[in-house]
Amino acid sequence: MTGIVVVGGGLGGLRTVESLRRLGYAGAITLIGDERLAPYDRPPLSKQLLDRDRLREPPFLCEPAACAAMCELVLGRRAAGLDAAGKAVLLDDGTEVPYTSAVLATGTSPRTLPLLDGLSHTVRTYDDAVRLRDAVLRHERLAVVGAGFMGCEIASAAAAAGTPVTLIETAPTPLYGALGAAVGAHVRDLHAADGVDVRCGVSVAEVRHDAAGPHLVLSDATTVDATVVAACVGVRPAVDWLATSGIALGDGIVCDGFGETSARDVYAVGDAAAWRYPGSDVPVRVEHWTTTTAQALAVARNLLAARDERQPLDPLHYFWSDQCGAKLQCFGLPRPGDEVEARAGADGRSLLAAYGDGRRTTAVLGIGRPKQVLQLRARLAAGAPFAEAAGAVRELAAA
Ligand SMILES: Cc1cc2nc3c(=O)[nH]c(=O)nc-3n(C[C@H](O)[C@H](O)[C@H](O)COP(=O)(O)OP(=O)(O)OC[C@H]3O[C@@H](n4cnc5c(N)ncnc54)[C@H](O)[C@@H]3O)c2cc1C
Repeated sequence: MTGIVVVGGGLGGLRTVESLRRLGYAGAITLIGDERLAPYDRPPLSKQLLDRDRLREPPFLCEPAACAAMCELVLGRRAAGLDAAGKAVLLDDGTEVPYTSAVLATGTSPRTLPLLDGLSHTVRTYDDAVRLRDAVLRHERLAVVGAGFMGCEIASAAAAAGTPVTLIETAPTPLYGALGAAVGAHVRDLHAADGVDVRCGVSVAEVRHDAAGPHLVLSDATTVDATVVAACVGVRPAVDWLATSGIALGDGIVCDGFGETSARDVYAVGDAAAWRYPGSDVPVRVEHWTTTTAQALAVARNLLAARDERQPLDPLHYFWSDQCGAKLQCFGLPRPGDEVEARAGADGRSLLAAYGDGRRTTAVLGIGRPKQVLQLRARLAAGAPFAEAAGAVRELAAA
């Protein structure tokens, strides 16, 4: 009996260990992480980037000593491969760590823009955030390339700290791919009202260096100071290390409804994992904090259950984002092409929205409307038709 090996020392890895212990598992657990730090939380890295009182220490998810008491912590070691037949994880120093069951939770890696290599910051780790913060504090300016959630949060944090910031996005609005044009346009206006110089529908064409320093030349021939640049152009699942493992990979590690991969006794959770949920014929990968936590608990339960008593996970997906002084909350999974009913509140800043696929409600969203979004959530959970959720959006937004 060699025990459970968890690969990835972030949220999914830690929550798996915690859940196993809470469920009474007393056997050996090894948690392998390639960072030097014990598991810490990532959402504060973008939201609190320029808050001088925060991020002085890594936002640990669990006291490092308490974490070390729950499992054998192997930090600063990268998993380089997995031998599914021999049931062992292979580390970058050649060590083999045998497992009875393994849980893979290696998250994502930031995408980069080759044009910005050597010039831009990405934000995945605590050290990345500290480096970007120090550069912004030193130079008091920032250009953010990519107006997804992370780019918007970083731009918002900079604007709130009084730093001149430009937000550059190829799509017509911020958050366009995730939330569509109507909500994206509202978010664009919030950022602009808060002093962010928002440039949408343009891309970075060139980097030019002159006596004043580096500049980004955009596709509309305008220029933006590039002394400090954050590249927030998306992520990809961190699964390269599994390339020769034989484990099925698609957009992430392909899992069944129990979280098990194509290799028996190997499960995956978190941003790297694409699960097959009830009612969905394709594996779905989401990069949400709450889904990661739910998957970790489900996998812990399934690891401790008899094989034919395992339970599939059927979560109501949820994510939040903090930007422009408000909390954005979204339940469900909005999809590109969904119809959208979006209404701003009387204050002009808050917003409610519902998404639908022509028949069903697929997601509901609120910005700065925590009570009302919960009322919409109840309709989503009850399987309300889109027309009903859209009506509720109109009613609640006007109230
Ligand atoms: C800046 C930021 C802000 C966010 N804000 C929000 C938010 O507001 N709301 C929300 O819902 N979600 C948010 N998220 C997403 C949320 O943090 C993730 O969903 C969650 O962290 C996923 O957990 P994970 O364990 O899959 O991955 P991670 O927490 O990324 O952990 C993966 C760990 O595995 C390690 N690793 C990778 N490869 C290997 C290897 N080969 N060997 C060993 N270790 C390896 C990584 O270094 C990392 O430590 C945010 C993410 C970031 C980066």
